[in-house]
Amino acid sequence: MTPASRPATLQTIGEFGLIRELQKYCQTLHADVIQGIGDDAAILRTSNTQALIASTDLAIEGVHFDFAFESFKDVGHRIAVANISDIAAMGGTPKFLLVAMAVPPSYAVKDLRALYQGFKKPCQAHGISLVGGDTSASKAGLFLSLTILGEVPPKQVLTRQGAKVGDKVYVTGTLGDSKAGLQILQRQAKHKTPKAPQPYEMFLKKRHLRPTPRVAIGQHLASHHLAHSAIDVSDGLSGDIHHLCEASQVGVELWASHIPLSSQCQAYTASLRHNPIDFALAGGEDYELLFTIAPRHQSKVFDLSKSLRTQMTCIGEIKPKSHGLRLKLEGGTSRNMTRQSYDHFSVTGIQS
Ligand code: ADP
Ligand code: MG
Repeated sequence: MTPASRPATLQTIGEFGLIRELQKYCQTLHADVIQGIGDDAAILRTSNTQALIASTDLAIEGVHFDFAFESFKDVGHRIAVANISDIAAMGGTPKFLLVAMAVPPSYAVKDLRALYQGFKKPCQAHGISLVGGDTSASKAGLFLSLTILGEVPPKQVLTRQGAKVGDKVYVTGTLGDSKAGLQILQRQAKHKTPKAPQPYEMFLKKRHLRPTPRVAIGQHLASHHLAHSAIDVSDGLSGDIHHLCEASQVGVELWASHIPLSSQCQAYTASLRHNPIDFALAGGEDYELLFTIAPRHQSKVFDLSKSLRTQMTCIGEIKPKSHGLRLKLEGGTSRNMTRQSYDHFSVTGIQS
């Protein structure tokens, strides 16, 4: 068979190619579907004043988590935050969680208890009730599927689609910490004899294992109509800005020197002689919010940042689509920003 006549595989079209393909079979025939496939969550109108936000996420042992370096409680916490973050990105209030799981029969009951303790902490912090799920045996590792439901007034919903040319691009917190934390955890699990811990390690490991969903910020941006568009940084800045620009049909210029990096991430990457910006661009699971606002609202974002005591940094500007997605480097040169984020089906794991 010639390469051209060979049937496409998931490796050739990638994760997002597959989703685009499947989307053709998922037409939204119902007027109450405000947002179907293509955003952080679906938005479904339930009345004139309220809409349901629904999002579901899979987490697979050996793909999304690894008990070699994280506990069942860590996994529960981290996976729950990943779900809550999708509601935060839409400006909504998370309310209910359902957990389906397939578990190898040999797993200890105490470990499953710890998993649920992990779910409980972020759920309690955000007033979320775990209201159901499903359980099955698994022949290979733990499979988790979490479905989260939330609410948002339809007029306030934040999506990836509304970015306008001239908008300023903001991000909360710092980027790249989670990837750095994951690398440290993986390295320590591999080399069982611990080196003297570096002062930045605890912080970075915690940023990976116990991320913070930015619920209050998403709600404020939505209820005050501050942001034109938003997405959570779950796939790495380079991938998530692509999603936002594609949905909004715009281009962007990001400024490398403005991308917020923690001193700990800078110290860690310096020890490896790596560029911390690459960690921000390619590292997933930071669960910070990336949003765009009209320039006249910049002082309001400054006030919000102060009142919620959360760093919010302007990292670039939305441009016309013809500009493409470009990263301005120190010294004034700029380069095309390729997606460096994780793709489940690519051979390298990286999207290009
Ligand atoms: P996130 O990273 O924010 O959880 P994903 O990248 O997993 O979002 O998904 C992107 C979009 O594609 C979402 O709107 C999601 O609901 C949709 N999607 C993903 N997988 C499927 C599938 N198998 N069938 C239908 N829709 C899907
Ligand atoms: Mg998301």
